[in-house]
Amino acid sequence: MNKEVRALAAEFKAFLSSREEDDLTPAACNQAAACISATGEAASDTTPSLLPSAAETQPQDHLTIEFAHVARSASTGSHCAGNAPTASAPSKILPTAHEAAAASSLPGVRCAEAVSMQTAQADTQDKTEASHSLMQETPMTPQEKQAALDQLAEEIKNCRRCPLGQTRLNAVPGEGNPAAELMFIGEGPGFDEDHQGRPFIGRAGQLLDKMIAAMGLKREQVFIGNIAKCHPMVNPADPQARGNDRAPNAGEIAVCRKYIERQIAIISPKYIVALGGVAAKALISDTKSLGALRGKFHLLHLDTVELKTPVKILATYHPAALLRNPGWKKDAWADLQMVMAEMGLKRPQA
Ligand code: SF4
Repeated sequence: MNKEVRALAAEFKAFLSSREEDDLTPAACNQAAACISATGEAASDTTPSLLPSAAETQPQDHLTIEFAHVARSASTGSHCAGNAPTASAPSKILPTAHEAAAASSLPGVRCAEAVSMQTAQADTQDKTEASHSLMQETPMTPQEKQAALDQLAEEIKNCRRCPLGQTRLNAVPGEGNPAAELMFIGEGPGFDEDHQGRPFIGRAGQLLDKMIAAMGLKREQVFIGNIAKCHPMVNPADPQARGNDRAPNAGEIAVCRKYIERQIAIISPKYIVALGGVAAKALISDTKSLGALRGKFHLLHLDTVELKTPVKILATYHPAALLRNPGWKKDAWADLQMVMAEMGLKRPQA
């Protein structure tokens, strides 16, 4: 264990006992809360519940995907007064089980001019793409995995399938070990990630680095990514503003999820840690609250790719939520220790 890992682990240990206050302004939180729905990430992460809400338990046999109309328009200054979905976006939706579950539970921007998008084509197209590129009988070498991930990253960087692609500064495909045994998956890039095109590099990312080190691992040994690959913003007209982050809505997740699924299929990890309620609900395909999903492993099933080997997924708090709510740190550490026990990892000595 080198000095760097030991130092990060020691910092995380110190973090566990600290009562650090969040540096997000109440105004920024309120603005985000006003734009995402009341059932969004902020709500799920700040008020963990052991029982699903009435809305979460409602069966849903139809999915309407709503995109916020976004335009980086100085003249209107409104993120709701923008353009229609991109030409390459699908036109008809027949939801998969994952999408229906996600749509019933995940936050959505409900702007007045949101449009319904229907996507039977997307489902078929995604499955065709997956079957062409990933349904290999022989395991890929790490070099082949890296090449496949690089090719996919190029595809993501050119993607404009949802409105987030119009307002991002950089797509954030994800990074790390192409043959990682463990993946960490969050909901979407924030300000720092959008500016640099890398996942989890802001303050929350620094905490994630410490959490990884506390597990006895280095960041380079795992793969880190998000479900949505482009920055969801409260006000897409102002990507230079901090505190402008929001969770991806159900429509954005439904359109973008094929990328994280293909990354999972390529990497073929044994374990995934879903960071936060949005990522957990989307990946586990369950409408329950993060509080109800935490504390146990779930078996991963994907919409667009058939996994060749089982993948166990465990949900925990997003590092940004831990910064806002230090009281949840011990629970998060307990979650990580479950993963460590499964992987046979020992905490590094300080
Ligand atoms: S968020 Fe995903 S689907 Fe939307 S433009 Fe970015 S890469 Fe494409």
